[in-house]
Amino acid sequence: MKKLEHIGIAVKNLKVANKLFAKLLGKPHYKIEEVASEGVRTSFFEIGGVKIELLEATNVDSPIAKFIDKRGEGIHHLAFEVSDIKQSILSHSDNGFLPLNPQPKPGADNKQIIFMHPKTTNGVLIEFCQELK
Ligand code: ZN
Repeated sequence: MKKLEHIGIAVKNLKVANKLFAKLLGKPHYKIEEVASEGVRTSFFEIGGVKIELLEATNVDSPIAKFIDKRGEGIHHLAFEVSDIKQSILSHSDNGFLPLNPQPKPGADNKQIIFMHPKTTNGVLIEFCQELK
C-alpha cells in the first residue's frame, strides 16, 4: 500500500458539486472523465497530493445511483494506491478481504482498479488502484 490516492464522493449533480468543491477547496477541478463501463462521470480535484473524485451516475443502474438511493450523497470510497494490484488482490483475499470482482478493471484517471466489499472492511468501500504505465 503506497498512499491514500483519492477519496470518492457520490454526488447527484456534478456541475453543482464542482462549483461547491471549487469554492470549498479554493481551486477548480482539473479534469472530467466519463467511465462508461461503470456508469459514472467523474471530476477530479487535487489538494496537497490527495485527490477528490466526485462521482455522478450516468444511468439509473449505475452503482452511484444505487448508492445515492440507499444512503444519499456523501463519501463513497477511499482509494489506496498499490504497486501491484493483482498481488494486492491475492494477498488481501488470503487475509479475509473480499474483492468485488475477480480481476481489476479500468477506472478513471488511467488506472486499473478493484473494490473490496465493505462488509469485510468495517462498512467502508475500499478501492485499490494502480496507475497504468
Ligand atoms: Zn475511485
